[in-house]
Amino acid sequence: MTDGQTLFIAFAFLYLLECLRWLPESAWLVSGHDSGRWKERRILEILRGRGIGAVLTRWLPPLEPAITVMPWPFVPRDSGLEVIVAGSKSRFIVPWDEVSPQVDETKVRIGGESPMVRFVNATQAAAWSEAVTCWKALPTEKRTQAFATFVRPSLDAPAVEKMGLDLERRTRWLRFNGDLILMWLFMGVTVMYWRFGDHWQTLAALGLLLFFMLQQAVLFLLASRAKNGAPVPWRYAKALGILFFPPLSIRAADTFGRLQETIPHPLGCLKLLKEKVWQQTAAEIWRHSRFLPGWPTTTDGADAAAMRKFFQKHKIDIAALETPSDRIPAGGIYCPRCHATYLKADTPCVDCAGVELKTRD
Ligand SMILES: [Zn+2]
Repeated sequence: MTDGQTLFIAFAFLYLLECLRWLPESAWLVSGHDSGRWKERRILEILRGRGIGAVLTRWLPPLEPAITVMPWPFVPRDSGLEVIVAGSKSRFIVPWDEVSPQVDETKVRIGGESPMVRFVNATQAAAWSEAVTCWKALPTEKRTQAFATFVRPSLDAPAVEKMGLDLERRTRWLRFNGDLILMWLFMGVTVMYWRFGDHWQTLAALGLLLFFMLQQAVLFLLASRAKNGAPVPWRYAKALGILFFPPLSIRAADTFGRLQETIPHPLGCLKLLKEKVWQQTAAEIWRHSRFLPGWPTTTDGADAAAMRKFFQKHKIDIAALETPSDRIPAGGIYCPRCHATYLKADTPCVDCAGVELKTRD
């Protein structure tokens, strides 16, 4: 391989690494351009482990802004605080007298036998830990209301929409110029090198690349000025990286996505996501909160109550969210939480820690 080819492969590899976003296992990204048309980007199964995972963001032009969302990790129940672990079949409920949250930057340990929970940033970790301490001190009947008040901002659909569109606007030129650099680096420069080798034509193509990168560094400094939103730490150092290193230059807009302080609940993306995508996510999250062991004798838990209120406010048909797919025929027996089918209704669902089965009407 020639030096040029080695360099090209190294850049392609480093660029793909730049396209990965590492998040807590229960979080994911929502990305797009126009309101009502954003998509979900979930953690890749092969890059998941030890409580974190990587999401591959859009790596081809046009590059997209992305906001991070995360379901609620702690829910107060009568017997204790439930710690919700993504993808786990077991339930972790820490009795209230054992609840004593310990924060370690972006991680929170509740106490007892519960696993550690990772958050997107330290602000989010501190806010949840503080809320849990506050719920512990309250009498049982007040906890549901305190939970509803605490999670309300994460379900504020117009605010989440504004957050996404503001990020889109702030990073528009950086992403456009990033597309240019991406195409010029992997198509323009490569073709010139392949065609002319180490001659002045290739040097000219590289010169143009440097010009685009200089432009990107200037655009970055303009977009990161304090008057344009949240302050960017280390902005001059980052601008230097953008000036000299193509993968950083292409992905310069990502810096702004990482500044996001409030982490919405996925349902809060009602106005950003495509309707069908939102419905699917909402159905899954709703079923997991609504159908707990003990259903239907118990009332809504704190999380289901907050969601029900949100659905009513936005006139969402809750029955439609509970309807199983056509895979389950009329008279079929199924678990209302995970939609697994059963032949007999005499045992509760084995995967859902004992949720009573339902017969389809
Ligand atoms: Zn089930």
